[in-house]
Amino acid sequence: MFKALRQEGSTFSTQARSYRTGGRLNAKVLVLNQSYEPMSVISARKAIVLLYLGKAELLETLEGKQLRSVSLAMPFPSVLRLGVYIRLPYKNIILSRKNILRRDGHRCQFCGRGDLTLTLDHVFPLSRGGEDTWENLVCACVNCNNRKGDRTPEEAAMPLRRRPMRPNHVTFIRQFVGTVNERWKPYLFLH
Ligand SMILES: [Zn+2]
Repeated sequence: MFKALRQEGSTFSTQARSYRTGGRLNAKVLVLNQSYEPMSVISARKAIVLLYLGKAELLETLEGKQLRSVSLAMPFPSVLRLGVYIRLPYKNIILSRKNILRRDGHRCQFCGRGDLTLTLDHVFPLSRGGEDTWENLVCACVNCNNRKGDRTPEEAAMPLRRRPMRPNHVTFIRQFVGTVNERWKPYLFLH
């Protein structure tokens, strides 16, 4: 189960975009640790297995949706809580281009656009000693990156939309709240 959760966690970013609430078995379900800490996002199919095996309890369902088979009808799961506490193995997310883009929601952190070619920009320029860190790298469109050049956001009068920070797994789960399910918000501290 643990391995399965980890695998799901690493691939949910791409899958979450194709989420539908139409009762499909690949719909997304939020998994909380026993401590109620948000842990991962898994498919409804895996959620059903966890429930069936008694490994998790159902906290939230999708209203008006049901899962049916020949012998079974149950509410469609939306949020699960694991029955036992699992230590998270991936406290540190690797600094990579892909993960910077994920953290920034694939949007330029200067102009907010997501439809242009995206690059990584060093907030404090590389040419002046800026480092490759979570706090110094942001997603920027080619236009903004060129415009900013070897200047800081202050020097270029191009303020960042938000301060870049090291993400954790909850950061990534949060990005999908708007498109996934209102019922997840309380569990992701987004009241
Ligand atoms: Zn831009």
